[in-house]
Parts: sequence; C-alpha cells; structure tokens
Amino acid sequence: MQITSNFDGGNILVRDIADPGDAHLEIRRDNNSDFYQWFYFRASGVRDTPLALHIDNAGSSSYPPGWKDYRAVASYDRELWFRVPTDYDGKRLTIRHTPEHDSVWYAYFAPYSHERHQDLVAACQTSPRCRHELLGATLDGRDLDLLVIGEPAADKRVCWIVARQHPGETMAEWLMEGLLERLLDDEDPVARQLLARAVFYCVPNMNPDGAFRGNLRTNAAGANLNREWQEPTRERSPEVYYVRKRMEQTGVDFCLDVHGDEALPYNFIAGPDGVASVTRRVLDLQDEYERLLMRSSPDFQLEHGYDAVAPGAANMTMCTTFVADRFGCLSMTLEQPFKDTADSPHELVGWSPERCRKLGRANLDALYGVLDRLR
Ligand SMILES: [Zn+2]
Repeated sequence: MQITSNFDGGNILVRDIADPGDAHLEIRRDNNSDFYQWFYFRASGVRDTPLALHIDNAGSSSYPPGWKDYRAVASYDRELWFRVPTDYDGKRLTIRHTPEHDSVWYAYFAPYSHERHQDLVAACQTSPRCRHELLGATLDGRDLDLLVIGEPAADKRVCWIVARQHPGETMAEWLMEGLLERLLDDEDPVARQLLARAVFYCVPNMNPDGAFRGNLRTNAAGANLNREWQEPTRERSPEVYYVRKRMEQTGVDFCLDVHGDEALPYNFIAGPDGVASVTRRVLDLQDEYERLLMRSSPDFQLEHGYDAVAPGAANMTMCTTFVADRFGCLSMTLEQPFKDTADSPHELVGWSPERCRKLGRANLDALYGVLDRLR
C-alpha cells in the first residue's frame, strides 16, 4: 500500500503503513498554527485489501468531539463521496474499509478543489447577470474572487455572502455553488424577484491559500480569518482586508457567512445576539429568516446550535459580529455539519455536496421572505 497527499488540499503524515490492516497515520498541523482536523489522502495498491487506517493524533486535534459518531468520506472517481465505517476510541480515529478498486481517496469531507473553484467563477461570469471582480492577491499569490450578481442601484438591497473563511469547511463552497446556480437561473422566479430588488456580492472562497495547503482553519500566515475582522492587515489577513474594504464601498444590508461545524450534527444559524448595538428589529429578522429557511429545507433546524451570547459579550473580531455592528444589518453565520444531519440522516453519503447545494438554494427562499424589511 502507498499513501500520498501531495495534491491540492492534501493532508496526511505517514507513520507506519507496512501492514495495511494496521496502518498508522497522523494529521499535519496548519502551517504557522496549531489547528488540525482536516485530512485528505490517497491510498494506492489496495484493491480487495481490508484496511484499518489509524489516525493516531485524532484525540488531540482541534475539535475531538468532532470524531464522535463521525464517518470519513471515500471516493474512487472523485465525484461520488460515500461514507465508510469509522470509529473513535477517544485517542485515535480508525477508518475500516476494503476498497473495490486499486486506489481510493479518503477525506474529512468531500474536497472542493482550486480548479473547481476557478470553474465555478468562470461559469458564473459568463452569465449576463454576473460580473467578476478580482479583489486582490492572497499571500501565496492566489486570486481573491468576488462575484457581483445583479445591477447595483441605490434603492436595491445589498447582500453579501461569503464562504470558507475556514478552508477545511469545504461544505461552505459546495453550498455557495448551489446558491449561485439558482441566483443565475433566469427562469427561477425567486432569483428574478431577488435580483429586481437586490444586488449580491459573493465570495465563494475566502481562503484559497489555506484550502490548497490542506489547512483546517488558517491562511498562509497562520491567521484564523474569522478572528481578523476588527483589524485586518495586508501582511497577515489580506483576504479580510480586501473584502472589508469592498464592503465599506457598497454598504451591507444582509450578510451570510457560511461555515461547517465539526461537532454538531445539524445545520443551524448563529446570529449577532451578543453584539451590544444589535437591535430588536435585526433579531426579529433573524428569527424570521431561520423559520423561513426551515420551511424551505427540512435539513435546517432551530433546536440545536450554539448557546446564545449575553448582550455585549460577543467576540467582535468575527465577520458576523463585525458586520452586524458596523452596518447595523442582519448578519449571520450558517453552520453545516461534517458528520450528517442527525434528524434527517443519509446512510450512503451523510451530509453531502448535493445536500449542501440544495441548502444553498433554500437560503434564497428565506432571503426572499425578509428582503423588503432588511433596510
Ligand atoms: Zn468555520
């Protein structure tokens, strides 16, 4: 058996794989940082071989509760990512699988490659409703892409949707793909109404460097971008610096920051409840948005999520809280699971790219329901 990870998004350290039935691996830390949880590697020469792949350092990863009731994803064709038996003993994570083909890819969640990102941007910009803007360069010299959908006008609502500040949360960009596809469908009645009254600024991948490097949470400088919103700099967090600067030019009436959560097996929203300046009007809008989203997608729910933050106690370095305070608007973090949705599980794929895409589409229904009251 060979195990390799020298590709876009790859992450694994090979310790001892002499015995495929008792192979020892570790997850590599994000560069310049102690975070780790994302893994993505290829096993070759494994057809009909019963594998037991131990990730020995899982117990001291960034979010150990993330391994409880978790199943890794695998793919032979890199299109269909299916779940494989995985167990966790409190210290190490073990993937048990007997591949049907010579090589197989394993990952924490279905990967979203830089090539696919570029294909998405390219496909969107050919729509007459979409303009592409290059916001700037990342520290590794990658493009930070912004898609502007609809014609800006003074009376239109300004909606910002950003994804994947945390690069290992690939479900965020899968969701973005579905959302963009619907928004650009000129035969979709909700998209048409939204674009008649709003303009969208979408960043499908806030952290292309971390994504390519196979990081869980940080960019090339080791910065956690969702802790950089108060004082972003070009040296440490240019991704946030450029997006914030563009937000100042457009203003913001609605902001959705899309993430994934390691531990909770649910889709849920975290709002700006701890922000001192937040108004009852905004909190009511958030309630209504969540209710509408649940009605549009049974994969979304209201019961499980983060504990509410006491007024004034919010961490103001995050996108959601910073934007809520700076622009006084509805600003939310949407979290999706790495595991599956416990209340609507899917045995074969768990929470999957297609389910992410559909939740992205459903978000436009919810937004449509609150659009006129955003300002
Ligand atoms: Zn996140």
